[in-house]
Amino acid sequence: MRSAAGPLILRPKASAYAMARQELRRAVIAGGLETAAVAARLGLFQGAAGLGLIFMLHHVRPASETAFDPNALLSVTPEYLDAALARLKALGLRAVDLTELPETMCRGDPSDRVFAVTLDDGYRNNFEHALPVFEQHGVPFTVFTTSGFVERRFTLWWETAERLLRVSDNVTLDLGSGTQRFDVRRNAQKAALFQALLPLMTGPAQDVAIKALNLAARASGLDPIGITDELIMTEDDVRKLSQHPLARLEPHTVSHPSLAQVDRPRLIGEINESVERLRAWTGHQPSCFAYPYGDRRAAGRREFAAIQDSGLSLAVTTQPAVLQSKYAASPTALPRVSLNGLFQKSRYVDALVSGLPYGFAGLIRK
Ligand SMILES: [Zn+2]
Repeated sequence: MRSAAGPLILRPKASAYAMARQELRRAVIAGGLETAAVAARLGLFQGAAGLGLIFMLHHVRPASETAFDPNALLSVTPEYLDAALARLKALGLRAVDLTELPETMCRGDPSDRVFAVTLDDGYRNNFEHALPVFEQHGVPFTVFTTSGFVERRFTLWWETAERLLRVSDNVTLDLGSGTQRFDVRRNAQKAALFQALLPLMTGPAQDVAIKALNLAARASGLDPIGITDELIMTEDDVRKLSQHPLARLEPHTVSHPSLAQVDRPRLIGEINESVERLRAWTGHQPSCFAYPYGDRRAAGRREFAAIQDSGLSLAVTTQPAVLQSKYAASPTALPRVSLNGLFQKSRYVDALVSGLPYGFAGLIRK
C-alpha cells in the first residue's frame, strides 16, 4: 500500500456551526427530493429518467431509537423496502437481475424502464429482514459480500467507531504520531469525531487507521471481530442464500479497502481472492463486483480496468445517476442510487426514479 503523506491528525469540528451546516445540508436534500417528487408526479422533465436505475442498500432492519446514529443512512426498515418496491412497480419499472443491465442499455428502450437492487457488505439482516420482502414482491437482488468479513478476518471500521463512540466519554487514538485524546461526552462531539475519522479510514493510511481504531475499541472492552461476527453472514448463510432463486451473491473485496489507495498487487489480490472465496462457497462463478465506498476517490480508471482484466463483466460504483445507453460502453463503472436511511418516504422513490435529483451535484451520495 502507498505510505501516508504525513502524520495522521484528527481535527473534529463539533461547533454549533458545523452541526447546523450538516442539518442544513440534510434539509436541502430533503427539499430537493420533495421538489423532484412533485415534478415527477406532474410528468415534468421526463427525459431525465433514462432507462432505469440500480439501487444500493446496506442494512435492512427494524428502526432503532438511538440519539447517536452516525450510520443511520446505511439502514432502511423492511417496511420502507416494501413500500419502495411497491412504488417502483406502480411507476411501471420492471425488476431485473443485475446481469441483464448491459443488454437493457444496448437496447436503449425508454418505454421499458428497469431497476436492479443491490445490498453491500453481506449483513445478516439481508437474509433475515430483506429476503422475505424480496420474496413477497418476486424481486431479484444481489448481495455483495466482503470475504474477509465472512471469514471474521477483518472488521467494519464504521460499525466499530459507532459502538466505541456510543460507550465512551473520551477516546484515545494513536495514529502513529503519538496519542490524541478526544472528549466525546456530547453527541455533537461523537458525530464530529466520526466525521473526522472517515477520510482517514478510507485514505492512503487506511490500514494503520483501522488498526488504531481497533486497538482503542479493545481498550474500551469492545471486540471488533465480535462486531463483524454479530453483523455479517457466515459462510453457511452465504451458501444458503446463493441457492435462493432470487438471490445473486457477488464479491466486494477481501478487506473492504478504498481500492484507489492500494498498490496494484493488493488491488489484484483483493479482486481475485474475493472472487475465489465466493466461488468456493457457492459453486457459482462470480461475474459482478461492487467497489467499497465506490466514489471517485475510491474507484477510478485503474480499478475499472482491473475489474475488466479479471474477467468480471459488470461492476457498480456509488456515483448517483440513472442508467443511460452511454453506460453500455463502461459496464465496470455503472452508477447506483442509494435507498438512503435518512430519507425513508415512499414519495422520494418517485424523485429518485425521475433522475432529477442527480443534477444537485450528487447530493444523494452514500
Ligand atoms: Zn461496502
